[in-house]
This record gives sequence, structure tokens and C-alpha cells, in this order.
Amino acid sequence: MVRTEKIFEHLGIEVSRWQNEVSDRSATSGAEPEVLRQLLAQTFPLVNPMPIDEILDHVMDLLKNYAVHTTHPRHFGLFSPGSTPIGVIADAVAALFNPQVAAWWYAPGANAIEEHALRFLIGRLGFDPLTANSHFTSGGSEANMSGVLAALATHFPRALSSGLRVVDRQPRLYLSDQAHDSFVKIARMTGIGTDAVCRIPSDRQYKMSVAHLADAIRRDRCNGLAPFMVIATAGTTGVGAIDPLSELSHLCRAENLWFHVDAAWGGIALLSDRHRPLLSGIELADSVTWDIHKCLPVPMGAGVFVAKEKDCLSKVCSVNPAYVPAEQTGASDLYRSSILWSRRNIGLKVLMTLAELGAEGTAAQIDHHFKIADELRRKLKIAGFSIVNDDTQLPLVCFEDSNFRSATELVTKVLKSGVAWISNVRLPDGRDVARACITNHVTKSSDIDQLISVL
Ligand SMILES: *Cc1c(COP(=O)(O)O)cnc(C)c1O
Repeated sequence: MVRTEKIFEHLGIEVSRWQNEVSDRSATSGAEPEVLRQLLAQTFPLVNPMPIDEILDHVMDLLKNYAVHTTHPRHFGLFSPGSTPIGVIADAVAALFNPQVAAWWYAPGANAIEEHALRFLIGRLGFDPLTANSHFTSGGSEANMSGVLAALATHFPRALSSGLRVVDRQPRLYLSDQAHDSFVKIARMTGIGTDAVCRIPSDRQYKMSVAHLADAIRRDRCNGLAPFMVIATAGTTGVGAIDPLSELSHLCRAENLWFHVDAAWGGIALLSDRHRPLLSGIELADSVTWDIHKCLPVPMGAGVFVAKEKDCLSKVCSVNPAYVPAEQTGASDLYRSSILWSRRNIGLKVLMTLAELGAEGTAAQIDHHFKIADELRRKLKIAGFSIVNDDTQLPLVCFEDSNFRSATELVTKVLKSGVAWISNVRLPDGRDVARACITNHVTKSSDIDQLISVL
């Protein structure tokens, strides 16, 4: 017992020190896979038992020394908002009690915690908490999969029993050329195939062109295909563009198509009254993907799937296993209305983080991302760079060097310095540009200055 306490004391010290420690470390990393494999084989022979403190020390060394540190204040990367002690505590508590959230009666406390957190998030989304269907997911990919499954079940209900072969026409879903590639995987996994995926060209601001979409739907119907779904991206991964949500929703209603909004990261704007209008129209969606682990410092994975129709996913997921007790009156079991079965208490870390910050603190954190991104845009321009996605108001900045240095040259220079982590992104016109996203609440003005000076 005393030893366990000592180890947690040690861990507590590491947690409280990490934020200062990480900023003194390189933001980038590189390691030969073979070197690491050998190191692991030597460190953990997995033959004789090892003491916990020794295991912990080794693991800490490995994770500190070999990682692009997403918790670093100058990690201008792919939507990793760093970590806070409450997230670590929440994950530890979830591990301690290991509640089985699959069924309400199994873990009423944990389920109620999730429901409560979801009610807050649904309110921010503008859906009616009393009628909406929602649950936490492993991440955006699962939530997107849920959206496609709900749309398929609604449009091709017979396929649920007889398979997609009863749909004698090729199902089609529409998304922009900037939309997330999880939909390519989903098309393969659901059996509709990648021929179902129709990429609509984006306009000069990287948003889905509604005119091109309307044309494509008309053409497909003429050609005997079966349109069933439109996926708007609210905050594209590459440049942070937001598709025209209201217009798309009207088109979907007129064409009788399921309207899904992938706001995996862009959902960040929903948490601040000041930036909420950027996503107006999202409340018109049939279903929404939102990754809390991309918006707040909550450990991965914490995605959310929200749908307007209560039973849209139950059509796919409802089963009655002989070995599971019946549902409790007044509550429903998540294993019967979502993809996962055994399920970790994902919502606990979300609730605890929201509770610690409060609504105002949450909004302030989000506003900070936007403010620092504005500062980055301003300072890049002064330093002679041009902003490529200057229509984008989300905190994601794509830029080019006016002196013709390539994006690869810029990115390599930054990564070599270890000062910061940025990446490049290829635009639809083939141009390669540098990309820096403000994704961590601890990023300060001085971090922007350091990035600019390396560039
Ligand atoms: C990150 C992302 C996803 C995938 O989410 P995961 O949580 O990584 O599974 C889907 N869509 C968009 C727009 C994203 O940015």
C-alpha cells in the first residue's frame, strides 16, 4: 500500500512539472524504428516480474524522449490541445473503477456523468437535448461511421436484413475535396465502396461549392445512381474551411438527403459565444461529428456523435443478447444504440474538464486560440509571408514565403531547429504550403515570436 502511494506521489510530481518541462524540450522527434525495437526488447524482456516504479521510470523515459510532444506550447499541429492534470486524474479514476458503460444498469453513475456532459455539449450545438440522440465515441472516425450508417439505414432499410445487394443502384455520398479521408475508409468498411464517394470541388476559399454539388446530384440521379447523403466539413483538417452549412442543409432537405456535419475540430467554435456564429446552420444537420479531444485538453479519444432522430442508429445496432440483463426503465443501453460494445467512461474526462473550467473558462480558452492565431497571421505578414487561407477564421494558418522558399524548406527548417512543430499541406491546385494550427491553450505570444524567428 505504502509503495503504491509513493508511486502515485512520484507520478503526481511528474504531472505537475510536465508543462514547464515540456517547453524546454525539443518539440520534434525522430527515431529509427529498429533502434527503438531493440531498446524495448532490452528494457522489457517480459520474462521476470519487474517492480512498478522501475516500469514507470522506463516508460516515462521512452515517452519523454521519443515523441513529437503534442503537449508542447509550440506544437502547431494536428489538433492536440495538450494536457492538464484533471485529464490525467479523470483517466486514472476511469481506470480505477473501470465502469462498464455499455449498459446503464451496469454503471448508472458513469452513464449519468456522460449524459450530463452530453447535455451541455448538445446545448452548445443548438440541438434539443430532450429529443437528440448522442453518445461519446472513440473519436471522429467512429462518429463519422455512425453518421454514414444512420444515413444508410434510413435510405436503404431493407439492406439491414438483406444486405446492400438489394440496393440495385450505386449509393452515393457527397463531400468536398477537402473533407476528411475517414470517409474513404468508411465507404470500404460499409460495403458501399469508394465508387460511392463523390468529391465535390471546393471553391477558392476551400469550401464545398453548392452549385457543383447540385449539379453532381442531378447528374447522378439521371445516371440511375442513388444519392443518399451529403457530408459538410465544418473546419477542414487542411486549411480550416467551413462549408456553407445552411445552404447545404436546404439543398439536402429539397433533395431528401441525409445531412451530416463533420465538425471534428471546427466544433471548437461552438464552445465560445463569440465564435459560435461561424458554425451557424450546424443545428440543421441530421447528425454531427465533434471531437472534444481536438477542442479541449481532454485525453484522446473523446469524440461525440449527435443525431436528431432518436432511433437512427438503433436500427443498425439494436440486438438482444441472451446473456445481458434487460434495459432499465427510463434509460437506454449504449451497446444497443452505438457501434462500441465494451465501453470506457469516455465522458468522465470531458465532464471533469468542463467542470474545472466552467462555461466561461472554456470559452476563454477557445477565444485564446483564436486570438493567438490572429497574432500569428499578423506577425507572419509583417515578416514577409503571405496567408493562403485568409478567409479562414478558425485558428489555423496556412502560409507561403514571398521569397519563394518552398513549404518543405520552411517546415524542414522549423523541425530541424526543434523549436516548434509545423507541417505542410497540399492545396487542390497542387501548391504545397506551410500549416500552423493553434491547438494548445498554453501557447503564448512569445511562442509565436519564436516560430517566426526560426522561419
Ligand atoms: C481528425 C478528424 C477526423 C477524424 O477524427 P479522429 O478522432 O482522429 O478519429 C474526422 N474529420 C475531421 C474533419 C478531422 O479533422
